Amino acid sequence: MWISDNKIELEDGTVYELEHFTKHENWGKAEEINPQLLVELDKMREYAGVPFIVHYGTQGSHSPNSQHYHGNAVDGHFEGLSWMEQLLIATRFGFTGIGVYPFWNNPGIHVDVRENVNYRAMWWRDRQGSYHSIEEGLDNVRTSI
Ligand SMILES: [Zn+2]
Repeated sequence: MWISDNKIELEDGTVYELEHFTKHENWGKAEEINPQLLVELDKMREYAGVPFIVHYGTQGSHSPNSQHYHGNAVDGHFEGLSWMEQLLIATRFGFTGIGVYPFWNNPGIHVDVRENVNYRAMWWRDRQGSYHSIEEGLDNVRTSI
């Protein structure tokens, strides 16, 4: 829940001040973005040291059961970093879903905090638009990207 332009309340009641994002990024419905996703994004942005441009939060067109529509996912890119750098950075943080999009106009990543999973879903989209899981055996995870 947003308390001010850059402060959010977490599920346990803790107030977290975002260093690098405000309510006014391209979140779609900012009120619906999972606070834990914002915390992980903020930590990742701090680590990367360059701006992260939000493309989509709750808005945009995604698969019907997409984590985006639950406020659990964000698409975006880091300014000046390759998709490989972005992937490597994202894996350091507490996302349970990471997608890599080398062929966006601005190559970037999807990160999400899908709940109740005991794995991390990782995938990439190829030049033709087909999805591939990065880890063997997780081909079923693509329904919620
Ligand atoms: Zn996405």
